[in-house]
Amino acid sequence: MHRRFFAPGVLAAASVLLAIPASAASSAPGASGIGDPYYPAYGNGGYDVSHYDLRLKYQPATDRLEGTATLLARTTEDLSRFNLDFLLDVGEVQVNGAKASFATSGEHELEITPKKALAKGSHVTIVIRYSGVPSGEKAYGFTSWHRTADGGVAANEPEAAWWWFPSNDHPLDKATYDVSVQVPDGTQAISNGTLQSTTSRLGWTRYNWRSNKPQATYLATLAVGKFDITTGRSESGIPVVNAYSKDLGDNDGAARASIERTGEIADWLAEYFGPYPFNALGGYVPNTNTGYALETQTRPFYSPRQFAAGSNTQVVVHELAHQWYGDLVSVSGWKDIWINEGFARYAQWLWSEHEGEGTAQEIADYVYATRAADDPFWTVRPGDPGPDNQFHIAVYDRGALALQALRNEIGDEDFFAILKGWTQKYAYGNASVGDFRAYAEQVSGQSLGSLFDTWLFEPSKPVAATARSASISRESVAPAQPKSWRKIAATNDVHDHGH
Ligand SMILES: [Zn+2]
Repeated sequence: MHRRFFAPGVLAAASVLLAIPASAASSAPGASGIGDPYYPAYGNGGYDVSHYDLRLKYQPATDRLEGTATLLARTTEDLSRFNLDFLLDVGEVQVNGAKASFATSGEHELEITPKKALAKGSHVTIVIRYSGVPSGEKAYGFTSWHRTADGGVAANEPEAAWWWFPSNDHPLDKATYDVSVQVPDGTQAISNGTLQSTTSRLGWTRYNWRSNKPQATYLATLAVGKFDITTGRSESGIPVVNAYSKDLGDNDGAARASIERTGEIADWLAEYFGPYPFNALGGYVPNTNTGYALETQTRPFYSPRQFAAGSNTQVVVHELAHQWYGDLVSVSGWKDIWINEGFARYAQWLWSEHEGEGTAQEIADYVYATRAADDPFWTVRPGDPGPDNQFHIAVYDRGALALQALRNEIGDEDFFAILKGWTQKYAYGNASVGDFRAYAEQVSGQSLGSLFDTWLFEPSKPVAATARSASISRESVAPAQPKSWRKIAATNDVHDHGH
């Protein structure tokens, strides 16, 4: 009735609004991905999880996992529906105390429709009862669940959570965790953080683990099996819990000779990266036939094969360096993987220097000299390598070379101030390659665009003159192989996945 008084533009806008029923005007399904161009279906839109409470039971004999996940979240949009990422069978879902309907779609989507639409900015409690046999599930044709003779292990990057708990599976959504797992007496359940308590009843033992700082989903881990557990404390006072499968055979001694140095190495890394950011340390070696290692938060996963050639502290240095570069400060998107791997590799070069087995400069010179200009190594851009090359050796070696070039450009004082300051500036959050460049420019007061372009983004080997101006490979003869090279190269497959 009043429309005739409206100006045409206003009328058009009013009609659009009136065409949508009031209740659905702003309420829509959340996106099935968080918006990562490398992995469009990973994570989800419309909410942010603050805590995962996982109460599980696992039977090693059958690989059956069952339990209840309680997620505390906050909506970031009005939601009529939202997704989680998960592969096991869901029996029931409750949202804010009312039964919700659910369906599966895509490779790993669980679509949940609450009885009532959720308003933006509201607190939501999601309870999911589930069960399944993780080793029977695949997504995109692969599995991240490693069945062992005495149990199973969830550890992989970027995908590990789908096989054992429903999540918003992307590093952008970090949360705290309580992981409680019941296993038969005589079997252990290992996860992140501190072991709060264990209780035994009727032949089953429950392990209650807590990870009390924000943790990315891929950094949450679960290992069930027969482990020998060692405990201690770093000199700086962080409690250390390590776990070794009782089935490591000839690799047992070398694994222990490496991982028992966790406290020492973490304290050493703290001199470069700032105080250790979590209240627990450790590592675990299950009896898997995998080859890689992973920086699962507070307690890295190591494959037995990492120790087949003897002890190797280099892999421990790499995974512990990630506790700062990767875990404390996580990637904003998976294209930012250099923020993790370039620095973890550079920490290995610093360790080589510390051990008197070759300086970072010598290793950088060696990498530059031994990779010919036509080596495909140089076509990978560590600053944005693409999903297929996310864990290419260039992200590691060329990535660390970029840091040596930066160090030579701005000098040791600013360089090491940046290594330490960065972990404080973005502590418990996320950051991108662009954020790092901006921070390096801020601290050094220099414009570093061309240096970052040359070493991280150009798909070709920097020419000799450019390398010389970055103080890389100034000698005309190829440098000798640094003593640490073989041990470092032995960790090149730390992120070689089974898929
Ligand atoms: Zn790594």
